[in-house]
Amino acid sequence: MKSKLNIDEFGIFLVWMGIIFSLISYFTKSTFLNSFGFVIFVFAIYRSFSRQTQRRALENEQFKEKFINPIKKAIKNGKNDATKLNRNKDFKYIACPNCGQKLRIPKKKGNVKVRCPKCGEKFDARS
Ligand SMILES: [Zn+2]
Repeated sequence: MKSKLNIDEFGIFLVWMGIIFSLISYFTKSTFLNSFGFVIFVFAIYRSFSRQTQRRALENEQFKEKFINPIKKAIKNGKNDATKLNRNKDFKYIACPNCGQKLRIPKKKGNVKVRCPKCGEKFDARS
């Protein structure tokens, strides 16, 4: 008989939740949180020894769908924002000499002819 301890992402999450609740209950002396942490631990252990691997796998998939994917998405979006910021570094911001409108010109292009979109003023700018 194969006895394998199956700890998946959901299992690891449950163990961490159990640890966190136990720690909070230790500091707040809350019996409720302590019991709650204990229940999570028991559930995590029960899951890892469970023979219903298909059901456990499904739970894990649902967990990933609901918790891991949104986090991954958020991290990815954060990275995209960082790329956008880097892209902004390739531009220089200047003010129109006529109306003061802020304009964006590409950097390191030498002298560029700029036309203000607000007042139509044409001028040369160094980038
Ligand atoms: Zn202008």
